[in-house]
Amino acid sequence: MAATTPRKNKWHKGKRFSSLEEGREALIQEAADRQDRFRVLKEDHKRFFVGCVTGPQCPYRVHLYVRQDTTEATVNRYIPRHTCDQKTHSEGVPLESGPTEPTIDDAQVLHGTIGVMVKAEENHTEETSAPLLSVPASTPRRKSRKSPSQRQTLYDRGLQTRREVLGNQHVDRSLSSKTNSFSRPMQEIVTEFAWGNVWNREGLSRQQRSLLNIGLLTALNRSTELAVHVRGAINNGLSEIEIREAIVHSLVYCGAPAAMDATRTADRVLGEMQDNGEHERVLT
Ligand SMILES: [Zn+2]
Repeated sequence: MAATTPRKNKWHKGKRFSSLEEGREALIQEAADRQDRFRVLKEDHKRFFVGCVTGPQCPYRVHLYVRQDTTEATVNRYIPRHTCDQKTHSEGVPLESGPTEPTIDDAQVLHGTIGVMVKAEENHTEETSAPLLSVPASTPRRKSRKSPSQRQTLYDRGLQTRREVLGNQHVDRSLSSKTNSFSRPMQEIVTEFAWGNVWNREGLSRQQRSLLNIGLLTALNRSTELAVHVRGAINNGLSEIEIREAIVHSLVYCGAPAAMDATRTADRVLGEMQDNGEHERVLT
């Protein structure tokens, strides 16, 4: 952990970390070094907002956001000064006492969350998979709901799987130039759920999932997605013959128009992959 939180880092607005997790740990470490106690005003897989335990009267704030389209985190707000005193901090309720009844502040009004007071020097020693420090305002968190850190983990795992299957170039393109605030939520959900969860399940190999996808996407007549998954099928080790036979097989169940369209799409993708040096055609 120490390796990811170099002490000499000077905190300031615009400071970057390679992930929200790293920024969060560095912030907790910094707060521990300064013997500050903060409370989490808002946290999910894209944000980590903290303020002073004293509440809105004290201006101390640090807001970390994950930058658009990446997992890189940026400090968007950094007000390091406390106007309160250490005595005020020492009256804060330590973490082991559980959630407190904080005064209503702007963050709660805006986001409907209750900040849980955190004794930073205790918290920073916990595993990175430690549960989150904010809870819904009125009802206890339902067990079935994933915590923001679980979601972040799923997203990170999903991004990795997605990169392994589809290649960095494709994923970078999907996550950057094509996305805006209209399409970004879908990208995030797909990365988290499809790639982070389903693709990482046991029971089927990646090759089997790829083969299944070729049949499914042919049946659905989704040529754009089929193109993506033909690339994934090659990266997952399926042969051109297996891809071709999956499509030929689908003719029986999906009809010739769907299978012919899939053949054209797959042939085009395999050709493009060869042109890019990503694959050597076998069936030409
Ligand atoms: Zn303060």
